[in-house]
Amino acid sequence: MGLFQSLKKMLTQDTPKQQTPPSTPPSKTTPTKPVMTIEEGMTRLEDAECPYCHANFDKPLTRKKACPECKRDVYVRTLPYTDEKDSVRVAVTEEQVEKIEIAWAKLNGTYEEYVKSKQRYENMKEKLHKQWGKEPSESDIEWHLLMEERIELANERKWGLYRNATLKMAENLYKIPKYDLSLRHYLGVLYIDLNGPNNVMTIDGKPYEDGVDFDPTEPNAFIAPGIIKRIVLLKDKRVPMSHEEVRELFLDEAGQIHTSIRTPLSPEEAWERLKEKEEYWGD
Ligand SMILES: [Zn+2]
Repeated sequence: MGLFQSLKKMLTQDTPKQQTPPSTPPSKTTPTKPVMTIEEGMTRLEDAECPYCHANFDKPLTRKKACPECKRDVYVRTLPYTDEKDSVRVAVTEEQVEKIEIAWAKLNGTYEEYVKSKQRYENMKEKLHKQWGKEPSESDIEWHLLMEERIELANERKWGLYRNATLKMAENLYKIPKYDLSLRHYLGVLYIDLNGPNNVMTIDGKPYEDGVDFDPTEPNAFIAPGIIKRIVLLKDKRVPMSHEEVRELFLDEAGQIHTSIRTPLSPEEAWERLKEKEEYWGD
């Protein structure tokens, strides 16, 4: 227990917990009305209090964490605001997360998109549940949504976005964590980057026929330093591998991508180009 919490407890142990009135009528003189105010299922972040059982945390949360008392997941969010000075950080229940997301989407004019992606998520959840005969996990659902998204993007020849979806897959695998598969996918992203992916223009709802899908020349074949950093972390620390093993994994993954989406560079060519790059981690 933190010092502040101990003090608070000492000072309040003999007096009953002060109750705040359930709802404060909005003041008529307030010029800007907050979009959302603290309600049931939310606590101010700085109060370090569980929104479910009201147990005190040692310190305010910085991100999602299970409550040590009731063991339920507590999320950290910012309430929607129009003026930054009204911004309030809160610890919230799972139910409130959704309410806050909806309020943000309405405020940002992305509500329709939000509803669509929620619908896609629910449809995928149901589909997998039927196929597998058991409830899929959040990461299973996200994984299959990304697979589906990539098929659409390949048809639309949006290779930059295809590459981004592949990156999300690598990131998801890192989080679960499945480091070996994550490394494989990061190497795949690297291979796509070396091929210089383009988002082909759409004309009358169709990709432009003469559009260039990939251009592996400079400066299109841009390598993001963040990707290299992650690959190095994975190969050195998470799933330690020899130089030769990393090269083989790269060639194998690149080979599959090369066949499935017809990237211009062969895996070997791409590896040679990588070695010439400043960003290359070395042998
Ligand atoms: Zn709790």
